[in-house]
Amino acid sequence: MSIPPFIIVAIDGGAASGKSSSSRTLSDRFNLLHVDTGSFYRALTAELLRREVKPADLPAVQAALADIALGTRVEGRSAQMEIAGRVVPDAEIRTRHVNDHVSHFAAIPEVRTALLEYQRSQAAVARARDFRGLVMEGRDIGSVIFPDATFRFFLHAHPEERARRRASEGGQDSISERDRLDTSRKTAPLACPPGAISIDTTHLTLAEVVETMAKPIAEKLAS
Ligand code: C5P
Repeated sequence: MSIPPFIIVAIDGGAASGKSSSSRTLSDRFNLLHVDTGSFYRALTAELLRREVKPADLPAVQAALADIALGTRVEGRSAQMEIAGRVVPDAEIRTRHVNDHVSHFAAIPEVRTALLEYQRSQAAVARARDFRGLVMEGRDIGSVIFPDATFRFFLHAHPEERARRRASEGGQDSISERDRLDTSRKTAPLACPPGAISIDTTHLTLAEVVETMAKPIAEKLAS
């Protein structure tokens, strides 16, 4: 009997484009480790803010990065980042304060470099735990982190629809400002990488978005 392939599914897109809900569903359906890299940038931002580091103060950012020890805890099918042995809880990373700062820290090349190998190392975490692969969501997964991923999807939706989705989650989040910063930064900007499958989720239900991605994944896993 042949060993089923280990697959990497990269899902990129702007804020509230449908990445998190669809990647969680795919993770459950295909037993893939779910890696939300936005939560990594958020946890790092919360830690830098706790240390009162300002994005404009590059030496302070570098000193803090050199001092921050990262680890991973797998909870269910989800990879959680540990900072100094502690998972930074959602209540601390989804605050207005973090929303307002995360894209500023994420634009700093040194911050992205600090997370690059950490993100790639999640594939080894998934293999060690016998997952069939991993589904990683973010902004530069298909372009920078895993350009050779088995599947690369790029989700987008009209800004009004994304604002409506975020408001319905009850979050205070200036998603258009974050998207502007994420799209315009020099290092690893948010963009649909060449060859990725682009999906407009504006008029699709979650189930329809998931089916669009699940079909080729199921075919691959059956091969
Ligand atoms: O996905 P989420 O909206 O939680 O991401 C928060 C922020 O983290 C993004 O607005 C972006 O600035 C940054 N990010 C990034 N690259 C990733 C994932 C997130 O720059 N791969």
